[in-house]
Order: sequence, then C-alpha cells, then structure tokens
Amino acid sequence: MPRRHSRRPTERPPARAGSSDHVEVRASGEWNVRPLAGSQREYTCPGCHRPVRPGVGHVLVWPVQKALLSAEAIDERRHWHTDCWRRGLS
Ligand SMILES: [Zn+2]
Repeated sequence: MPRRHSRRPTERPPARAGSSDHVEVRASGEWNVRPLAGSQREYTCPGCHRPVRPGVGHVLVWPVQKALLSAEAIDERRHWHTDCWRRGLS
C-alpha cells in the first residue's frame, strides 16, 4: 500500500527549477549538482586544483550512486568551480 501521506510537515519542499538540484549524466556516471551562491569556507576544486574562494558561486557535486567504500554518497561531495564542472568530466 502506498504511503504518500507520511511526509513530515517540517520537511522543506523540493526546490523548483531555476536554482535547484539536478542530476547530470556524464561518462563518469550520474551526478547530483547543486548550484551554491557561495560558502563560508574555501574548497579546492577537483577540476583545476585551485581554491574555490569563500563567497564565490560554484557547484556542489556528489554521485547519485555512492562508491562501494563510502558510507553515504553525500560524503563524496565536491565543490567545483562552475566553469570547471561544465567543461570537466564529460
Ligand atoms: Zn576549478
């Protein structure tokens, strides 16, 4: 029996198109992509190995299918420069 009414009221509705998460299919697999306006921290972009500066818009990417050795796919998330992601991995 479907349990369609089990959603918790505190759960936020999924973001809509425009600035929302989406899935991109690449040769390397399927990736969740979330555009971010900017972070507090600095990250290293896996595409160019340069820093993603705090406050700079970029994309957070993590695999749809988790790797065998990781507990959660979200643990494999990476911060990419938007341009590096667009031209990389394809
Ligand atoms: Zn980069």
